[in-house]
Amino acid sequence: MLRSTLSLMHRIAHIIWHRLTGLMPGELDANEVLWLISPHQQSPLLARRRAMVIVNRVRLFAFLFAVLTPLWSIVDYVVFPFPLWFFLAGMRLVAAAAFATLVICYKPSGNLLNAYRAMALLFAIPTVFYVVSHQVLTSFELTGMSAAIGAGYAFLPFVLLAGLSIFPLTFLENLAFVAPMLLAQLLAQILSWGQLNWPSFAGAFWLMALIAGVANLAGMSQLAFMVALVRQAIRDPLTGVHSRRSAEEILELYGGVANRADAPLAVAFIDLDHFKSINDRHGHDEGDKALRRAAKAISESMRRGDILTRWGGEEFLLIMPNTRLTEARAALERLTGQGLGRRPDGTLLTASVGIAERVDDHTSHWEELIEIADRRMYTAKHAGRNRIVIGDAVDGATDGAGSAPQPA
Ligand code: GH3
Ligand code: MG
Ligand code: MG
Repeated sequence: MLRSTLSLMHRIAHIIWHRLTGLMPGELDANEVLWLISPHQQSPLLARRRAMVIVNRVRLFAFLFAVLTPLWSIVDYVVFPFPLWFFLAGMRLVAAAAFATLVICYKPSGNLLNAYRAMALLFAIPTVFYVVSHQVLTSFELTGMSAAIGAGYAFLPFVLLAGLSIFPLTFLENLAFVAPMLLAQLLAQILSWGQLNWPSFAGAFWLMALIAGVANLAGMSQLAFMVALVRQAIRDPLTGVHSRRSAEEILELYGGVANRADAPLAVAFIDLDHFKSINDRHGHDEGDKALRRAAKAISESMRRGDILTRWGGEEFLLIMPNTRLTEARAALERLTGQGLGRRPDGTLLTASVGIAERVDDHTSHWEELIEIADRRMYTAKHAGRNRIVIGDAVDGATDGAGSAPQPA
């Protein structure tokens, strides 16, 4: 009984999940749907762009608040008794200074941790303002207009929670930001324990939870949109692998990481052999199909964490983080050993490969790394094609630096 109920629930959950993913914008694939839940495993390019967007929005809003927060003092001045106004005006100035500091100190760097920090500060400033002002306001007996304006201060947590919706965040990131805000609200209520009106507090808390839920959905749908856009921007339309532009961005990113950790980073320049003759003999469409087959063959047998990019026409660049030269050669031997798909006449499509690696080749500039790999690829061409070169000797076969799989 229990078992059949569980299996029924499992099936229902499966159907709902299936429907839901079908409704996602840009038809996200299963992996990308998981990216909406947690930032873990997100592609580095997405993380980078997201970090940029987040910091830019933090700065925009910090700037607006730096201007608007002190301005509201005019309204306070009209309605509140002088001591209350004076105290609030002081707090507003402090908050405005904090917002201005945020604008000055945070520049979009593409670092996600940095973006989280900027966001946390943006929300921490009004949260502290709220907790303190709430304390002070409850100690004054306000009536009429001043009571109405004073009540407005209690809306701040709602506004903050709704404000979360402008950020492209995952479900878990949203939760991490919502939890402290709800806790601050609880804290503010408990501090004024005497006057606490439980039913109205529970109602307000429930409303906050609902707003937080809607803001979470809004943030995730922004993120979904962004995932689809980033994918379009970074993929080569013919083969579906990363485009050259995104390859440069990835190299910039991985190159920096490898330099800081002094870790290996290998790149393999893969140029298909006699590709022009496919176009000449069988037409451009057959050439396109052969290119797609080659990209597919490489993608399917490369290791997790490696990134395949289409560098130009029939040239691919495989980026291999944390891989030394000889390991990279072993990987490429396995990868090209069976050919990269077939030519239209049924023979194997082969490639000439040049590999370079930052530790073994003593360079910390990725541009230079590519130059070395490119040069070695030409060495492989001159030595007869269908081979891998990892050293600078002209004849790779005699000094063991090159390796030539048996031609098909
Ligand atoms: P090699 O072994 O020396 O590399 O000879 P190759 O013919 O592969 O090299 P070459 O640089 O002379 O020619 C590259 C060819 O790749 C020329 C171009 O028509 C073809 N090509 C480049 N991009 C595409 C593409 O997107 N589709 C098709 N069908 N062909 C392409
Ligand atoms: Mg070429
Ligand atoms: Mg070629």
